[in-house]
Amino acid sequence: MKVDGALALEFQKQLGAGKVLTKETEMACYAFDSSFLGQLTEYRPDAVVKPDSAGEVAAVMRLASRHRIPVTPRGAGTAQTGGAVPVRGGIVLDLSSLNRIIEVDTDNLQVLVEPGIVHADLNAHLARFGFFFPPDPGSSRMCTLGGMVSNNSSGMRAVKYGTTRQYVLGLEVVLPGGEIIWTGVKGSKALKTVSGYDLTQLMVGSEGTLGIITKIRLKILPMPEKRGLVLAAFDTLEKSGEAVISVFRNRLFPSAIEILDKTAIRAAMLYKPDIVLPQAEAALLFEVDGSPADVVYQAEKIAGVCGPLAGHVEWTDDPVKFGKLWQARQVVGAAAARVKPGVTRVYDGEDICVPITKVPQALRRIQEIGARHGLTIVTYGHIGDGNLHSAVMANLRDPAEVEHARQATDDIHRLALELGGTTTGEHGVGLTRAKYMEEEHGLALEVMRGIKKAFDPDNILNPGKMALETVAMGETASDKTAQDKTAVERE
Ligand SMILES: Cc1cc2nc3c(=O)[nH]c(=O)nc-3n(C[C@H](O)[C@H](O)[C@H](O)COP(=O)(O)OP(=O)(O)OC[C@H]3O[C@@H](n4cnc5c(N)ncnc54)[C@H](O)[C@@H]3O)c2cc1C
Repeated sequence: MKVDGALALEFQKQLGAGKVLTKETEMACYAFDSSFLGQLTEYRPDAVVKPDSAGEVAAVMRLASRHRIPVTPRGAGTAQTGGAVPVRGGIVLDLSSLNRIIEVDTDNLQVLVEPGIVHADLNAHLARFGFFFPPDPGSSRMCTLGGMVSNNSSGMRAVKYGTTRQYVLGLEVVLPGGEIIWTGVKGSKALKTVSGYDLTQLMVGSEGTLGIITKIRLKILPMPEKRGLVLAAFDTLEKSGEAVISVFRNRLFPSAIEILDKTAIRAAMLYKPDIVLPQAEAALLFEVDGSPADVVYQAEKIAGVCGPLAGHVEWTDDPVKFGKLWQARQVVGAAAARVKPGVTRVYDGEDICVPITKVPQALRRIQEIGARHGLTIVTYGHIGDGNLHSAVMANLRDPAEVEHARQATDDIHRLALELGGTTTGEHGVGLTRAKYMEEEHGLALEVMRGIKKAFDPDNILNPGKMALETVAMGETASDKTAQDKTAVERE
């Protein structure tokens, strides 16, 4: 059902007029996220509701459930899969006003926060106490904790510190009918529990399809005293892969291991000429952390292990030099479009994950996919856990190039599956990976559909995502949503 004027008034009565938006210009701002899909198609909501408490979220859900209105939760809209896009219209529930840090309890290694807090703001606050929440997405200054929990986000340090999942101790969740529950033992501050089904972990990565997260109890860690960095450049992709495996074999455990392929090296240097990297097929950046002595020990050893394989190795524990070397990795996402005038970065096929041993092969095959479709693809990423970011570059004003980009990103997803990996290591399924769900999960997808039904029998919460709806044979969930009447094809 649609949100008409009368229903919009009902929402306003519950929350106050300022918290319910209905103007067309406002709806346009909520019609996309950071995905390729968002660059091509708009899905406008009928209304946007901006609650600022769990009670208000519950009131919205009760009303939405009574009238069978689709509700799409949204944090900052930085996700790259169409997850926060309202493909069935209805309401977008903007959770950015629930942004309080409720409690910092360093003695019990935890914080209690609302989902709208931005990742970098939380870590800036925790730094005052000498603590941090380790997952570190590239979107740190924009994305919300609610989005991170819902997508099980991670980043460069996942190799040592794991993903968001490892830090979520409990959640307050508003169910589709408006009931409020706590997962992870109500009122508990325990760091471990085995009591009952683990609903916390079920909610993590559920992409807003099972409930609305309104509070998050998160584990935090003391900040390491020091960080160091090793840069190694290789004349073949295979040698860079060998170096990573040798580092682990030598019982070294870096906090991050990042790779830049030759196109990514070029992009970083074009973007910021003060970045000087060796000309190479691949560059690896190893970050190490710990006590000052430990950092020196690890950095020296990693440099020693890479030495026989690399054409160039250097390391530093000096914070200024560290910042200079690390910026090559930090800018590469934004820099990618510099490799060719007139192109835009296509956010699709951008976070496949393959076994570590298959990374060199994946990088080579991605370059071949680019050549086959006449497109430049810049690839970089977290080689330490096999998670690669491929930036396909295309002129979005050229329909033939857009079609090639679609095919290239499909080829990249299929390559991940062929190499024994997955289509998404950190960004999620949303709409763009829905069509691979059957292949990735087989019968387990039916179990997921059963779980969705148990939580949300009327399918009002973020409908059309993750292939959770039963669709006709041969039709994927993304095909189905593409036909949706709310879609406005952009010129
Ligand atoms: C430049 C850039 C760099 C990025 N780098 C990384 C990276 O390094 N690692 C990584 O993992 N991701 C990365 N991302 C992807 C994205 O930032 C993450 O997925 C992020 O966690 C999404 O947060 P958000 O607040 O923007 O969520 P949104 O995009 O608003 O929503 C994401 C999903 O969560 C759901 N959701 C949001 N809030 C709630 C809630 N409170 N309750 C229930 N469901 C909710 C939405 O419905 C949607 O399905 C990057 C994105 C960009 C643009």
